[in-house]
Amino acid sequence: MPKITPPPHIDKILSRLEARGFEAWCVGGCVRDALLCREPSDWDIATAALPQETKACFPGLKLIETGIAHGTVTLITEQGPVEVTTYRVDGKYENHRRPAGVSFSRDINDDLSRRDFTVNAMAFHPGRGLLDPFGGQEDLQGHILRCVGSPSRRFDEDALRILRGVRFSAALGFRLEPDTFSAALENTGLIGTLSGERIQAELTKLILSPMAQAALERYEPIMLAALPELPYIPKLLDAPLCAIPRWAALLRDCPPDTAQKLLSRLRFSNRETAQILRLIRQLPLTPADESLSKRLYRAGLSASELAVSGGDLIGLGYSPGPHIGMALELLLQSVIYGELPNQRDILMDHARKIM
Ligand code: ATP
Ligand code: MG
Repeated sequence: MPKITPPPHIDKILSRLEARGFEAWCVGGCVRDALLCREPSDWDIATAALPQETKACFPGLKLIETGIAHGTVTLITEQGPVEVTTYRVDGKYENHRRPAGVSFSRDINDDLSRRDFTVNAMAFHPGRGLLDPFGGQEDLQGHILRCVGSPSRRFDEDALRILRGVRFSAALGFRLEPDTFSAALENTGLIGTLSGERIQAELTKLILSPMAQAALERYEPIMLAALPELPYIPKLLDAPLCAIPRWAALLRDCPPDTAQKLLSRLRFSNRETAQILRLIRQLPLTPADESLSKRLYRAGLSASELAVSGGDLIGLGYSPGPHIGMALELLLQSVIYGELPNQRDILMDHARKIM
């Protein structure tokens, strides 16, 4: 296991909290990135201290309290801002949106349980080492994105996690584990319940990631559910790595009024919308040969070569009709994308799950 060495100012914050009797850990993305030998973008701290208790531990230090209702106190250190967040248990999810209320906890395991993927649900403390209750390390080694707990429930609670899954796949080159992938597909309909701002922020991170193209293509059905205005996923590769040109490349084959409506739905400002529309006009149309059906065809696979047939699905209890075609299409995609082997027993098992 690679050695995790938090920077000295993070060590200091951990020690200060612990010296006052409050357990504290580095959590989430920084632990994941450190284990992958990547430079973490920021070091987040989770603690048993309530926000007021955290504040009292750092007299004289400048603080930002905007996140305090959700348990976050931002410490302004000489090395930059550091978020210290009280352990949380999320409250009931309403309308597939964020919890109506958060409750605080004194148990780090509660806090790790509410996190989205196993690789994001680890904690590290320089003295106590790694805390990994959901097998995050193993999934890191396998390059796997697996939900903490039941994937269907976690995506139903917050559909943004579906897009985060594709985003982490684009950032890290990881794949969604089969149950997580099928739950993501089943719940794509919930993406429409998310606010335009949240979708925009997540998709911007996604299309700016180094492996965006591969993730967009691999998870095309998810992307087309998030952006139903798109005729298909185009090539982004020649667009420079900044947000406005990347969005223009993504929307290049949308008719201008469709693109404009999409940008307004995702809450882009008038200025950004104008910039993106102007860039789209400068890009040539891409040939429409990258659609899913064409790629299936080129992959040399069609539904007839799948190890299960429509008849098999009826045998499982599927009612005859369009459901069968949809299920066969999902199975076919999973096989083509390497999520599942083309083996009858495994596909039947999967068909039973998505029924
Ligand atoms: P990055 O390096 O891109 O910032 P990150 O893992 O730090 O990646 P953030 O969006 O900053 O991602 O979130 C921090 C942590 O909070 C995540 O690692 C995850 O544990 C948790 N988290 C964030 N959003 C959600 C969510 N919608 N559902 C569950 N857990 C989440
Ligand atoms: Mg982060």
